[in-house]
Amino acid sequence: MMNKQGRSTHGAADEHAHFETISGDRGLDHEEPLIFEIGRLGKCGVDLPEPEIKHDRLGGLRRRGTVGLPGLSEPEVVRHFVRLSRMNYAIDAGLYPLGSCTMKHNPRLNEKMARLPGFADIHPLQPVSTVQGALALIEQLAHWLKLLTNMPAVAMSPKAGAHGEQCGLKAIKAAHKAHGQKRNVILVPESAHGTNPATAALVGFTVEEVPANERGRVDLAALKAKLGPNVAAVMLTNPNTCGLFENDMREIADAVHKAGAYFYCDGANFNAIVGRVRPGDLGIDAMHINLHKTFSTPHGGGGPGAGPVVLSEALAPFAPLPLIVHYDNGFKLIEDDAEAKARDLKPFGRMCAFHGQMGMFVRAMAYMLSHGADGLAQVAGDAVLNANYVLASLKDVMSAPFGQGPCMHEALFDDAFLKDTGVTTLDIAKALIDEGYHPMTMYFPLVVHGAMLIEPTETESKRALDDFIAVMRGLAEKAQGNDKSRFQGAPFLAPRRRLDETAAARKPVLRWTPSAKSTAQAAE
Ligand SMILES: *Cc1c(COP(=O)(O)O)cnc(C)c1O
Repeated sequence: MMNKQGRSTHGAADEHAHFETISGDRGLDHEEPLIFEIGRLGKCGVDLPEPEIKHDRLGGLRRRGTVGLPGLSEPEVVRHFVRLSRMNYAIDAGLYPLGSCTMKHNPRLNEKMARLPGFADIHPLQPVSTVQGALALIEQLAHWLKLLTNMPAVAMSPKAGAHGEQCGLKAIKAAHKAHGQKRNVILVPESAHGTNPATAALVGFTVEEVPANERGRVDLAALKAKLGPNVAAVMLTNPNTCGLFENDMREIADAVHKAGAYFYCDGANFNAIVGRVRPGDLGIDAMHINLHKTFSTPHGGGGPGAGPVVLSEALAPFAPLPLIVHYDNGFKLIEDDAEAKARDLKPFGRMCAFHGQMGMFVRAMAYMLSHGADGLAQVAGDAVLNANYVLASLKDVMSAPFGQGPCMHEALFDDAFLKDTGVTTLDIAKALIDEGYHPMTMYFPLVVHGAMLIEPTETESKRALDDFIAVMRGLAEKAQGNDKSRFQGAPFLAPRRRLDETAAARKPVLRWTPSAKSTAQAAE
C-alpha cells in the first residue's frame, strides 16, 4: 500500500468491520458528545469551600441563578478536547494540499521562541519601558518585511490577510480623501480570493470585475478599458489564484497610476516569490503578507493569523496607529493623532486595540532568522518545484487548464477529466478524506470549471508527494473506470459522513439546549 496516512481503507470492505461496538466508539478514536452533554450542571470540577460573603460589594447585582456551565473534572476536560482533536486534521498529521492557503510545517523552534517569558508573558498595557525587547522584535520583523518587498513602510497590526486588505484599502481611501478625490470603484479580477471583493465592499467601495485571458492572467486590455476617474484602486493577486505569475505587473502599475488610482496587491501567495521578487519593484502601493502562510506561523484554530501590510511612499503617511519609533534611548509608541500629526503623518485610525499578534511576530522572526535571506529564496524555489512536480505527475490523468507552462506554488486542475463519469470535484475531495488527506481547495478559483487547487508547499518531501500523487492518480483512474461506489456518499471512514453543507450554512445550530438533537444528527 502506497499511502500510509489515515486508517486502513481495507476495513470498509471487510465484513467483520460491520458490527456495532458495545461502547458506540470505533476503535481507539472515540465518538465524543458535546461538553454540555457530558458535564453536569451545578457540579464543579474542583472542591472549593463555599465563599463567605460578609459584605456584598456588587450593589445588589449578585448572580441569583446558575450560569449553566457544565461541571467536569480536569481529566474529563482534557479527554474531551483530546478526543475532539483526534477527529481533526492538521499539518502535523499529514500533507494538507489546500490551495492558496500555504499549509506548510510550523517549525518547533518558532514555538520555543514564542514561549520565552519575555515575549509570552508580557501585557500590551505594560509601560513601554518594560517591553523594549518586544518592540525591537516588531521593528526588526518590520525591517525584514520592508527589505523583502522593497517597500518603505509597513503596518504591523492587522490580524489576518483579510484584515490587511481592509487596512490597505482604508489607507487608499484616506489618501484619496486627503487629495480631494471622490473615487469609489475597486477593480478586482475574476480569479480573486473572495475576501478581495468582500473587503472592498466593507470599506464602502463598489466592486467591478476584470476578466481573465485565456492564459489565466488578467486581461490587460479589459483592465485598461475600465480605468477611469472613479477607480480608487486595482486589487490584484500575484502569483494569482490559478498559481500563475501575472507578467504584466509593471504595465498594469503604470496604467493604474496614470489613471490616478492605487495598486493593491494581495500578497497571500508571497511564498512563491519571497526572496526572488520584490513587489515594490513592480509598482505596488499596498500589499498584505500572511505571516501564517509564507512565514510558517500557525493558521486558524492553530493560532491567530497576522497580516502586516507594506505601503508605498504615497500611502505610508496614512498607516494606522500605533507606530513604533526609534529614538536615542530605545523605542517609543505613537498612539494618538496629535503626536502623529506633529510628525506630518495622517493615520487613518487603528485596526485593533493594541499592536498586533505578538506571538506570531516572534514565530515569523524565528523563521526568517533560521532561514536567512538565501534560505527564504530557497523556500520559494522549493515551493514552486514541488507544485510543478505535482502538476507534471498528474496532468496526464487529470486535466490542467493552464498546464502547458510551469506553474508557481500551486497546481490547478479542472473537472474536464471527470466528464461523463458521474463523479464530481466534490466527490474527489470527499474520497480524499477516506484516503487520509485533507481535500485540496475545490471550486476555486471560479475561472475554471470544477476547480481543484493543490498547493503542496516546500516542506513536503518527495516521498510524501509521491504518496499523494499515487492516491490522486488512483482516484482519477477509478473515477474514469466507472467505480462510482467509492465516491458517492464518501467519506465512509471519517467520524462524520457527507454533511449537508447548505443546511449547515443556512440553518446553523449554534446553541445547545437540553432537548437538542444529538451532535451527529445535527451534523448529518
Ligand atoms: C488566504 C488568502 C487571503 C485571506 O487571508 P486570511 O488570513 O485567511 O484572511 C486572501 N487572499 C488570498 C489569495 C489568500 O490565499
